[in-house]
Amino acid sequence: MGRYTGSVCKLCRREGEKLYLKGARCYSDKCSFDRRPYVPGEHGQGRHKVSEYGTQLREKQKVRRIYGIMEKQFRNYFEKAENIAGVTGENFLQLLERRLDNVVYRMGFASSRNEARQFVLHGHITVNGRKVDIPSYQIDIDDEIKVKDSSRKSKRFKEIFEYNADFASQEWLNSDLEKAEGTIIALPEREDIDYPVEEHLIVEYYSR
Ligand code: SF4
Repeated sequence: MGRYTGSVCKLCRREGEKLYLKGARCYSDKCSFDRRPYVPGEHGQGRHKVSEYGTQLREKQKVRRIYGIMEKQFRNYFEKAENIAGVTGENFLQLLERRLDNVVYRMGFASSRNEARQFVLHGHITVNGRKVDIPSYQIDIDDEIKVKDSSRKSKRFKEIFEYNADFASQEWLNSDLEKAEGTIIALPEREDIDYPVEEHLIVEYYSR
């Protein structure tokens, strides 16, 4: 199955909350969810009783959409999380946060995770001095992430750095927009997940 190519704003409306998939637009009055906060389609404004399975499914879909991952890979993360010592749901979220595209976004080098993914795929990002063009690459403590010197001078990166001038990266990351580089100082913890998520619902979904 291919990557979702439809309107990403519809995904927010489908999940019933803002998923912040479009960068600056999400914070502007052009946000589709702010204008029409109901499920797209003819019956979108009606009331629907949601089953337990439906609730679990929606939570799983929401998180999958936030990180822009296809179902098979998403399930693989879950299976990997189950095999790591500790709480499966927290392991799962940590694996998602450790993706290189997410880190590029978290460091303020892209306006959305989707854009960060494109930057990685197009070879604009290095890890410890070497180009890494795999969005799912798992970062580790002390890794140094950088926008390539030749890329950081491009119009798009200049715009992002200007827009994100007051950007505050998370505590587990150090990021310097002037130098277009950052370091992983710790692995992300559960409290670093800054969007509402009930990961136990995802665990229940995949444990059925
Ligand atoms: Fe979602 Fe952003 Fe579109 Fe608003 S603008 S609906 S938050 S993707």
